[in-house]
Amino acid sequence: MENFRILLFSTSQLGGILDIGYTAEQSQIVTDLLYVFNAEFDVDNQKINIDYKHRNTSAFQARLDGFITKYKSILPQIQQLGTKFKKLESDEWFFVLPPVTLETKQKYELEKELDILNGRKNDVSEEEIQELFGCIMNNYELITFDLDKDKKIKIGEGQKNQRVCRFCQYKAPDVSFKKEAHAISEALGNKKLILNEECDDCNEFFDENVERDFIYYHDLARTMFGVKNKENDIPKMKGNDFHFFKTDEKNLSIAIVNSDKNKTHSGPPESAVFRTGNKIKLQNIYKALCKFSLSVIDSGFICHFSETIKWIKNKKEASVLPKVAVLNSYYFFTKRPELTLYLRNNNNSKLPYLVGEFKFTFYVYVFIVPFSDKDSTDFLSDEDYEVFLNCFKHVKSTEKFNYIDLSQNIERELNFNINFEHNKG
Ligand SMILES: [Zn+2]
Repeated sequence: MENFRILLFSTSQLGGILDIGYTAEQSQIVTDLLYVFNAEFDVDNQKINIDYKHRNTSAFQARLDGFITKYKSILPQIQQLGTKFKKLESDEWFFVLPPVTLETKQKYELEKELDILNGRKNDVSEEEIQELFGCIMNNYELITFDLDKDKKIKIGEGQKNQRVCRFCQYKAPDVSFKKEAHAISEALGNKKLILNEECDDCNEFFDENVERDFIYYHDLARTMFGVKNKENDIPKMKGNDFHFFKTDEKNLSIAIVNSDKNKTHSGPPESAVFRTGNKIKLQNIYKALCKFSLSVIDSGFICHFSETIKWIKNKKEASVLPKVAVLNSYYFFTKRPELTLYLRNNNNSKLPYLVGEFKFTFYVYVFIVPFSDKDSTDFLSDEDYEVFLNCFKHVKSTEKFNYIDLSQNIERELNFNINFEHNKG
């Protein structure tokens, strides 16, 4: 079996490696595919020339349809090619490239070129982008996940008997991998990002400790925005004094169950404390963010986070942690959790080796994954933290970011203050 691979690149939905497996007798398929992309065969020099710039014109679609019709009975997966290209708008430009992993900077340059070809004007000028993201582009690789796809994304070794748990380093038969481990909690609406390399013991530990607290902490947002949980239900919150649940797309019901009968009210109360009855450790919020991050990076980088893992698993104490930047904004609203990782690609150890940006409902968290052996500082002092912020200028320049301390590691009752604002219409 031979494989022919090309990389499709666009600023819309089309993207990724196109991999065609074929036998020696079927090699015509490759030349036919190259013809779809207008390749020129230089027979004298044994060369094939192909332009990387392409446009989804009607002529291109006709060539593609011809190719699919010809091969779909031999290679059924060819059919998917049509679906893939349907994601492009008509006359949209896209690129066909060698199957390489593009660096952040290269991606940015290619996207910029496509935007110009497609006549899309960026609201933000080139200078502004350089100002905001220049330092990140020079020091970091971006790791993102397309969770809009229907397919599950399974991270790490597929074979259960070959798996090594990335959080305890054990493999079968010392540990089992029976449960499907979600890289980001399922209760946050993540159905698709699966981590193969998480054993049942670690899974249970995270579920009952760090992730449980993270979910409790976001219960109000989960209820308000109707984020579906494991059982595909929208959660209802039931606290000591309140019931809080979403009745339909627009309405929320808050029922005061045990109203204080001794109090005499003049008019409706304006604020109330919603006691959830749940107890959490604030530090577990930070641990959960780091657990999600270490779940999605390539296992080859895990060796630089053994201290981080000890800490997440309560085997290392930390009384002070770097501050976490938090923004509450509807601008980035997302029902599904989104995680972007910034992994440093040089030896500039004054900058954090791994930084995560986690979005969920109206929360945006930007955090340093602490205790990496690639870091030379702990980012606790204002000066060291400032070096980080000076690089992550899109955070620093957004005034609405709050810098919160999630070091608190004592179990406390989780209460929400609810303000009932009068609608003055
Ligand atoms: Zn494990």
